[in-house]
Amino acid sequence: MPSLDAFAKTKLAALEARHLKRTLAETTRADGLWVERGGRRMLSFSCNDYLNLTHHPAVKHAAVEATKKYGVGAGASRLVTGNHPLFGELERRLAQLKGTEAACVFGSGYLANAGIVPAVASKGDLLLVDELSHSCLWAGARLSWARVEVFRHNDVAHAEEILRFHRVAHRHALIVTDGVFSMDGDLAPLKALSTLAQAYDTWLMSDDAHGLGVLGGGRGSAHATGASVDLQMGTLSKALGSYGGYVCASAAVIDLLKTRARTLIYSTGVPPASVAAALAALDIVENDTELTARPLAKAQSFTRICNLPPAASQIVPVVLGDPLAALEASQILEREGFLVTPIRPPTVPEGTARLRLAFTAGHPDDEVARLATIIRERILA
Ligand SMILES: *Cc1c(COP(=O)(O)O)cnc(C)c1O
Repeated sequence: MPSLDAFAKTKLAALEARHLKRTLAETTRADGLWVERGGRRMLSFSCNDYLNLTHHPAVKHAAVEATKKYGVGAGASRLVTGNHPLFGELERRLAQLKGTEAACVFGSGYLANAGIVPAVASKGDLLLVDELSHSCLWAGARLSWARVEVFRHNDVAHAEEILRFHRVAHRHALIVTDGVFSMDGDLAPLKALSTLAQAYDTWLMSDDAHGLGVLGGGRGSAHATGASVDLQMGTLSKALGSYGGYVCASAAVIDLLKTRARTLIYSTGVPPASVAAALAALDIVENDTELTARPLAKAQSFTRICNLPPAASQIVPVVLGDPLAALEASQILEREGFLVTPIRPPTVPEGTARLRLAFTAGHPDDEVARLATIIRERILA
């Protein structure tokens, strides 16, 4: 057996040869829109800060005040002494926004999914997972010990075929999908999936990390599609500009999660500053529908100029196929003052390396047009 160090070096060299090695680049985000990296100032199309709230004065102020009042850390798991008073307020507000009885805040979106799925599904149960679902839904699925069946992306007929074949042999069944797909920007057919779920005595869970604050008047993808979704999961870390995850559901489901979700029970509560920031961000989301509508409008003006299919959300993929092509395209854009990080396998399927553009409320229209023109003329041409 090689030493661990030799194992790591061999593995890294193989990844490097396929242009799949990743590195962390130090990045300073000074205002939620412009970033500085390697001495270069660039307009970022790679942040999930869709409403630019990471740097909003009222949101920052709320975080500072909460730190003064409650300290920098929660001090323990929420189940022990970490349940500071801001959690209850945020959970009431999230439930109200999503139209559910209750909500539960987790340490992050990843922790939420890794905890929720195993708390509601286990050995003897059936999970149906859209093939392009986010990594943390797969983590939750694997941790559950349930039977996992993958359905083709957004293919409701395929999901039905799986249910018709496998449903009877399993005790409970749960369909899990992103509401807005993080690397493709398209929306799940939540309405059709909820009808299917009801017909097959199955539950439905959606991951709305990219819907909250942007779609459905800011209330997310389930609201935008009018679907009934049993578990509406999301994150505080994208449009809300803060940190933490959440899920909205019935009061009993939330009580069960608070009793059984390991990633909630055995992990420290989100710091007061992050919860307070999320609350301040929600105030903005609920009161400024002009702001929440802007990221999608910017994305649609980009797709119009590029002659791409109209954007369904604020996320637009420009699929190039080869990892090296994506890296080179990203470098062209860097030289033009745009940060658009390339997305490569295994984040996306083999052969679909891409640029992933995330549009935010504050992107200047003339810069969106300049970016679109460069992509149309120099990358897609
Ligand atoms: C970002 C993301 C998550 C993880 O949320 P974090 O709060 O960043 O851990 C989960 N699901 C989807 C679809 C995401 O894009």
